[in-house]
Amino acid sequence: MSGMLKRRVLVTGGAGFLGSHLCDRLVERGDDVLCVDNFFTGSTRNVAHLLDRENFELIRHDVTFPFYAEVDEIYNLACPASPIQYQLDPVQTTKTNVLGAINMLGLAKRCKAKILQASTSEVYGDPEVHPQQESYWGRVNPIGIRSCYDEGKRCAETLFFDYYRQHKLRIKVVRIFNTYGPRMRPDDGRVVSNFIMQALRGEDITLYGDGQQSRSFCFVDDLIDALVGMMDIADEFIGPVNIGNPDEFSMHELAEEVLRLTGSRSNIIHLPLPADDPRQRKPDLTLARQMLDWHPIVPLSEGLKRTIAYFSQLT
Ligand code: NAD
Ligand code: UDP
Repeated sequence: MSGMLKRRVLVTGGAGFLGSHLCDRLVERGDDVLCVDNFFTGSTRNVAHLLDRENFELIRHDVTFPFYAEVDEIYNLACPASPIQYQLDPVQTTKTNVLGAINMLGLAKRCKAKILQASTSEVYGDPEVHPQQESYWGRVNPIGIRSCYDEGKRCAETLFFDYYRQHKLRIKVVRIFNTYGPRMRPDDGRVVSNFIMQALRGEDITLYGDGQQSRSFCFVDDLIDALVGMMDIADEFIGPVNIGNPDEFSMHELAEEVLRLTGSRSNIIHLPLPADDPRQRKPDLTLARQMLDWHPIVPLSEGLKRTIAYFSQLT
């Protein structure tokens, strides 16, 4: 932002995995960062190193309640991302997505702030189209155990686009595909943290189903580049835009790679596949390349090494 004033940026879910890396990036470049979190899955530990920075402030707040502040930009990341975590209190998950979006959009409207929504590849559900393009409407079960998250995120996208059409709000919608890295919680329940922790502890690697279901994993640093790039680009480009890494792996291949990189002798065991677990997932990144001039650069093996190094010092 030109002139004397610092950009005032609100990050909801800022004490979580992605949010804390985003706060790092924004504080480093000199923005005034307001981090809001209810610490459901996040932790002050993730942002402890920022607490003595004069351009960083941490506030405990639940986004399902209105929030008042004067800000120029809002990154709306508040919501548990791990299926295990968001299924603990599914009603609260829907509230966080829907009421949280309404409250943050209301704040953006009053402040005339630009607002970015951390949406998800889950809006595509269990997709019949592969790889997934933004034009695909998805195949989502509205009444299943993942619905609180999937439908909550879909409704949040609807709200963002209606605020754009109805109130001329400056919006940005990013559909994030599976992202991993340091500061994921070791007990978070997502596949990368589970496999690494199990390998480091010599416990069985819990592969759900036949392990042939696929995901495409993006390293956190690449993701943060894209989030900030999306917020900074001209207002005309509002998305939705896919952000992720197009390299696709089966969960069995992921387990083998984690075993190789950790040198662990853990056994792989098979457990039942959770309901509605998507069979395949891979982003089509054509739009992100064209509009944001962005593509991921960290390969899975490199990102896993950095993540393993982080988890090693926790054990
Ligand atoms: P995370 O669980 O580590 O972080 C979520 C943060 O939101 C936590 O700090 C949590 O305490 C906070 N939070 C939850 N409910 C809240 C509420 N009601 N009020 C205030 N704070 C609340 O997950 P993450 O991986 O960092 O994900 C961040 C965002 O990105 C989420 O919105 C998620 O849906 C989205 N996303 C992440 C991924 C991924 O692979 N990491 C993929 C798609 C979308
Ligand atoms: N998974 C697994 N073992 C685990 C955790 C997850 O095999 O210990 C599988 C899960 O069934 C899914 C994939 O890994 O097919 C990714 O799961 P995650 O919870 O990380 O994210 P999702 O993409 O399903 O939201």
